[in-house]
Amino acid sequence: MSRSIETIRNIGIVAHIDAGKTTTTERILYYAGASHSIGNVDDGTTQTDFDPEEAERGITIYSAAVTCEWDGVTINIIDTPGHVDFTAEVERSLRVLDGAVVVFSAVEGVEAQSETVWRQADRYNVPRICFINKMDRIGANFERTFDQVKARLSAEPVAVQVPMGAGSRDEEGALSGVVDLIELKALYFDSKSRGKDFRTEGIPAEYMDLANEWRSRLLDAVSMLDDAAMELYMETDDIPPGEIHRVLRTGTLAGSIQPVFVGAALDFIGVQPVLDGVKRYLPSPNDRPPVEGMHPSVKKRDKPQVRHPKNDEPVCGLVFKIVADKHGDLHFIRLYSGTLKTNSRLLNSRTGKKELISQLWHLQSDSREKIDQITAGDIAGIIGPKETVTGDTLCDQQKPVLLESIRFPETVISMAVEPDSSAERKKLEETLKRLAKQDPTFTAKVSEETGQTIISGMGELHLEVIRHRMERDFNLKVKVHKPRVSYRETIAKPAEGTGEFNRGTAEENHYCKVHLSVEPHTGEPSIQLINKLKHGVISDEFTKLLEETVLSEARSGSMYGFPLMGARFTLLGIDTRAEETNDVALQAAASMAVREATDKAGSVLMEPIMRVEVTTPDEFLGNIQSDLNARRALIVNSELRGDLSVLEVHSPLSQMFGYSSQIRSLSQGRASFSMEPLNYAEAPNSEIDF
Ligand code: GDP
Ligand code: MG
Repeated sequence: MSRSIETIRNIGIVAHIDAGKTTTTERILYYAGASHSIGNVDDGTTQTDFDPEEAERGITIYSAAVTCEWDGVTINIIDTPGHVDFTAEVERSLRVLDGAVVVFSAVEGVEAQSETVWRQADRYNVPRICFINKMDRIGANFERTFDQVKARLSAEPVAVQVPMGAGSRDEEGALSGVVDLIELKALYFDSKSRGKDFRTEGIPAEYMDLANEWRSRLLDAVSMLDDAAMELYMETDDIPPGEIHRVLRTGTLAGSIQPVFVGAALDFIGVQPVLDGVKRYLPSPNDRPPVEGMHPSVKKRDKPQVRHPKNDEPVCGLVFKIVADKHGDLHFIRLYSGTLKTNSRLLNSRTGKKELISQLWHLQSDSREKIDQITAGDIAGIIGPKETVTGDTLCDQQKPVLLESIRFPETVISMAVEPDSSAERKKLEETLKRLAKQDPTFTAKVSEETGQTIISGMGELHLEVIRHRMERDFNLKVKVHKPRVSYRETIAKPAEGTGEFNRGTAEENHYCKVHLSVEPHTGEPSIQLINKLKHGVISDEFTKLLEETVLSEARSGSMYGFPLMGARFTLLGIDTRAEETNDVALQAAASMAVREATDKAGSVLMEPIMRVEVTTPDEFLGNIQSDLNARRALIVNSELRGDLSVLEVHSPLSQMFGYSSQIRSLSQGRASFSMEPLNYAEAPNSEIDF
């Protein structure tokens, strides 16, 4: 059965690691009926973390799309990872989401990754609601966290609830429930039914002032957003709940505000209202702008192709995730338009090949349902495609469209692996291929110089997880070498290059000449290609091949053999001869032109710089700072958050290997850190000795 589009919510739950995303997701799946048992992160029995690797580590690594039902709406939850090594997973989820629930810890407040994710969500215009979690912990502070959301994220939070108390059950003034500021009622959640049952009562006298203060802030915000609400507020000094919901929905969809909920997921307090919030304030696919892509054919690609979320439009969807499954690879697709039926054939507009859709699945966290079709706006798992990778568009063969692929950050770390016995070399190769297909931020290749197999990823933890998966899922024992930084190169100055290929036998000659320039460039994509050749001087096929050759040559680097970054190539001229120019001549001439241009431009070695956030009790601050100083790290900010010191540090990745054990030993295990790629900077000369 297909779902009506207005009742679909495609959401992500995003947070800094440990803020309680998995716990909140668990509670949601429990209340929304998808799960009969209730899991607990600390016992390793949660529903979304079904990969044993994740359960072991208590972190969510691979996002899974899970479906549940709440009050007449279907909620597709894309579980997003909280660990920075996996930011690409967050990025890809955001592309296919319509809205997000951002979870904050009321103790730690707004942490580094919340900031990163918030910025990513801004980039994709994803409407958000917030959940301030862990109000049951000592040191929890609703107002402080709320203010941080406003200040650090430049957000417009609007509280729709306030907590009654803070801290654990046994303490005085402990968290007992939450005040609903819209209905002006107190909500108490029954712990025996795990929060499924709750009571609504009048607000206790001790919380009346607090409730009134925050309610007037709520009404002020609502009236600022909407003229009708403003008029009502001026006339009656009040706004009825229905009207508040309407205005909050419009404001949230427009990205002008973010409604804020509060509670403690672990103690089953305040999660059901968040579900109501998802239904009330977050968009259905119909509330989102239509998607825009381009025509895959070179000739027509300037003409934008628009697809509306309608069932009778041509089919168009984006594959955002592939997971290995016993029945074959399961391709998660977000369908933007049309009706997709099983046994239909779609065009993969990147490869130009047809793919068979042999099965369609709706996935719950612990069960699955085979379906005949899905309609616009929905998410499902497909079995059948053979050559489709993450980020590919699948579409109607007659109405081809190419959506922007999902952009993944470059890998920053790599290491050599070898099979335990040489008999397993082939198996290693196949396993790595499979893993790379599922995870676009992981690559594997054989080094031309040394013959070693090199795997690359986003961080030490990422590669360690990959290694465990090889052993556990594929039963493959491997030896690994020390991890190394993935350096890059950029060019020093603008230059031009010409490549001429002119070779042959007595019978036939091959000829082509390519002229291009290269110059330094900032911004995305990091390697840019501008084609200034007159339209029609060469065929579409030649144009495509020429562009591909320039880009792939750039990837193989110049002086140091590391991939090039920050360069713009411009194709300036081409000379061909009707009988003599073929693919081989064209590719050779293009490669030579790139090499000549980059040689003349000169090379600068670049190293990845990480943004590191260290959180530590004050007593270890001195030790940690002096250790960081010895690592070429720059401390860019230092502040107090609650009773912890937080350092923001920019450090070369090469200096951060093994930092997790170092920081543990410097702080008796009490300091923590998170790390994500920030940018690249010129590497000091001492680094050039690999
Ligand atoms: P994630 O990394 O964001 O997915 O966070 P988890 O859901 O795995 O939670 C991290 C830790 O915080 C676990 O030990 C949870 O039991 C704990 N936790 C989550 N929510 C709460 C809460 O509301 N109160 C308290 N006291 N602990 C919580
Ligand atoms: Mg988690």
